[in-house]
Amino acid sequence: MVAKCGTHPDRDADGGTCARCGTFVCAECVAPGGAAPVCTSCLAHLDRGPHVRHLRILAILFMVHGGLLLAAGVSYLLFGGLMLDELARMPADPGSPESEVLPELVGVFAAAMGLGQLAPGVVQAFAGWQLFRYRGLGLAWAAAIGGLFAVLGCYCAPTALLLGGYAAYVLSRPDVRARLALGVPPASHGA
Ligand SMILES: [Zn+2]
Ligand SMILES: [Zn+2]
Repeated sequence: MVAKCGTHPDRDADGGTCARCGTFVCAECVAPGGAAPVCTSCLAHLDRGPHVRHLRILAILFMVHGGLLLAAGVSYLLFGGLMLDELARMPADPGSPESEVLPELVGVFAAAMGLGQLAPGVVQAFAGWQLFRYRGLGLAWAAAIGGLFAVLGCYCAPTALLLGGYAAYVLSRPDVRARLALGVPPASHGA
């Protein structure tokens, strides 16, 4: 005898069993996109977790902050480029050895500051986009920790610390971890 769906007794359980509650499910009752089959009622239950709504807030903050880091990184690089350009135009002073070293220092400093903000900016923006779809727990941790490196660049220090603390709080909640582990985008509660 073929097992029947727990919700639709007239249908075969061709969706397998729910990884969370073990109920037999038909294809229609499996939440789409997950790594393991999860039934729609388990999904709805996990969506109602007390901290799950923070995922949207965190996603927005990551995208906004990631965008700011990207802008800061680009302006450091542009500024460094302009400085180097200016220095190259200045007449060389053969008597002073510093005039040889200075452009390289400016270049290295600007590149380090620029890339130090660009890299976490990219990770944060991407992590935010993934969190909107309730995915990427590991990526979100990387974004929170990576953002702390931006503290080295003076611009974003307090915001990166606050965001890192908030992210650590949200991402360590058991209901959030369980929800992100599904890899299933948010259920549409409309209709
Ligand atoms: Zn279930
Ligand atoms: Zn069903």
